[in-house]
Amino acid sequence: MKIAVVVGTRPEVIKLAPVYLELKKSKKLKPVLISTGQHKEMVNEMFQWFGIKEDHNLKLMQKNQSLQCITARVIEATYNLFSKIKPDLVMVEGDTVSVMAAGLAAFYLKIPLAHVEAGLRTNNIYNPFPEEMARRIVSQLTNIHFAPTKQAVINLRKENIKKNVYLAGNTVIDSLMYTVRKIKNSAKTLHATSLRPDFKKYRIILVTMHRRENFGKAHKNIAKTLIKILNKFPDTAILLPLHKNPKVRDVIRPILKNHKRVFLTGPLGYVPFVYAMKNSYLILTDSGGVQEEAPSLGKPALVLRTTTERPEGIKAGSAKLVGIDSKKIFNETSKLLTDKKAYNKMSKIKNPYGDGRASKRIVKILSNLFVS
Ligand code: UDP
Repeated sequence: MKIAVVVGTRPEVIKLAPVYLELKKSKKLKPVLISTGQHKEMVNEMFQWFGIKEDHNLKLMQKNQSLQCITARVIEATYNLFSKIKPDLVMVEGDTVSVMAAGLAAFYLKIPLAHVEAGLRTNNIYNPFPEEMARRIVSQLTNIHFAPTKQAVINLRKENIKKNVYLAGNTVIDSLMYTVRKIKNSAKTLHATSLRPDFKKYRIILVTMHRRENFGKAHKNIAKTLIKILNKFPDTAILLPLHKNPKVRDVIRPILKNHKRVFLTGPLGYVPFVYAMKNSYLILTDSGGVQEEAPSLGKPALVLRTTTERPEGIKAGSAKLVGIDSKKIFNETSKLLTDKKAYNKMSKIKNPYGDGRASKRIVKILSNLFVS
């Protein structure tokens, strides 16, 4: 039973590496790892960290690649590769254009598709853009859905997707736990050279923002609010790993670069990033994965978005949707920096996204389905 595991971006590797490693342990299921090349260095770094290597690299990365271009290129390249290697099943994760395109290629070849992290929805097709549409399309193409939470199962049911839907938990927690365990034991990996702020001197606010729908005005607004927060709280510093996209970088950098308590870095490697999350005071983010990871590390997350496909953290109380409104971001951040009780309440919530055993569940389900 040959399973083509397709990854394109770093978050996809973070979430599929533990499944791939688990599949490798199986005697009957044979995983073949395919990288589309949508991200290059960041994906290679992840492969190294998990000690894995792709069997095929489609090298589709281009500078400033447009959505339509990468979609067309992934469909064609994965179609050709699947035709050649003839997998019995294709596995994808999440909601990128690579995922949608590889799913479509599998469908054209009538190869069954397994989708990890199925069923996330905001119900607004333009937010996040284009991910909400990508994940909806993938659900239509999928034969086996691995939902991370009960809510995700309900979302699929509402769309009449009921067959072969399995509640597995989110594999991002498997990788996080693996990484936290590993960096704990190694002083070398803890020595994250790209981290300059003094985690002992300041309360570090870790900020990430890269969502397409926040490009421009919203990012500008958020960056200005961060300056206000720093000026009100002299014991805080901001660590902001900037996304490589010039549409993010060129707006945020000029506003923040001269403040002496702002530490702007390029995108951090996953391991230093986990270190930063673990040692920060609180997290402001528009990232999906970070919302899922934060509660496992006991960090309150303020979500810089107007919608979220991850309501579980908000319901449980480990995250708050603060949107892109300056006043709300300022007030909620100030509250967590001054009100210890409110802070403790948020930081003690049990992670609603996973328990670190999702990959094992997924492989067990696949074994039961395909190996007699
Ligand atoms: N991440 C990272 N370095 C960074 C920012 C994020 O390694 O500078 C990791 C983070 O731990 C999480 C994943 O990347 O596992 C989230 O990726 P991103 O925010 O790009 O995408 P999303 O989850 O929103 O799709």
